[in-house]
Amino acid sequence: MMKVGITGGIGSGKTTICKLFELLGIPVFYADTAGKELMLSDLEVKKAVVNLFGEAAYSPNGNLDRKYIADIVFKDDQKLKALNAIIHPAVKDAFLLWSEQQNTPYVLKEAALLFESKSYLDNDYNILVSSPTELRIQRVIARDQTSREKVLERIEKQLPEEEKQKLADFFILNNEELHIIPQVLKLHHQLVLLAQQK
Ligand code: ATP
Repeated sequence: MMKVGITGGIGSGKTTICKLFELLGIPVFYADTAGKELMLSDLEVKKAVVNLFGEAAYSPNGNLDRKYIADIVFKDDQKLKALNAIIHPAVKDAFLLWSEQQNTPYVLKEAALLFESKSYLDNDYNILVSSPTELRIQRVIARDQTSREKVLERIEKQLPEEEKQKLADFFILNNEELHIIPQVLKLHHQLVLLAQQK
């Protein structure tokens, strides 16, 4: 199965673009959602999370205390690295298993930190969705009812756009001037051809 990663900075519109690929029948694996689900359902992952953060990571009814964990990892980079070292391999396995069950020319894996986590190396190709920074900030403020400062903090934690551009094979510009549907259709046809040659 040909595997294609898709990423973009916060608010770039990667999820919006993925929905268009889904309309074309291409299955999308949402890595961040999968990671959250694995923290609830995978016993090995749960055990490792409790080892790292203590019993307080989960409430007695088994729900994850996301705020407790977020508050810790926001301030402690080592803990964030350790959490990623638990989640990323589990997500990688889940994606491989899932991708083998699909029956399409290729599959997409959407991940916010595709390049940062190095998981792009496991894919045949990687797509970068780009949007001007100011537009991204305005979109996220509107979508999440958050502040400009909070969005900037999150942008600063991501790899700079120029670095991502060096690592991507394909690009979609979601600047609300260029139409995205023709870009997605063109890329889809390119990927189907590449899958046939594989
Ligand atoms: P995050 O990294 O925060 O998950 P994302 O890259 O997945 O963000 P989306 O959630 O797809 O981005 O888009 C952010 C917001 O901008 C959403 O509310 C979405 O509806 C809106 N948006 C994205 N692209 C466009 C567009 N071309 N035209 C209008 N609105 C858009």
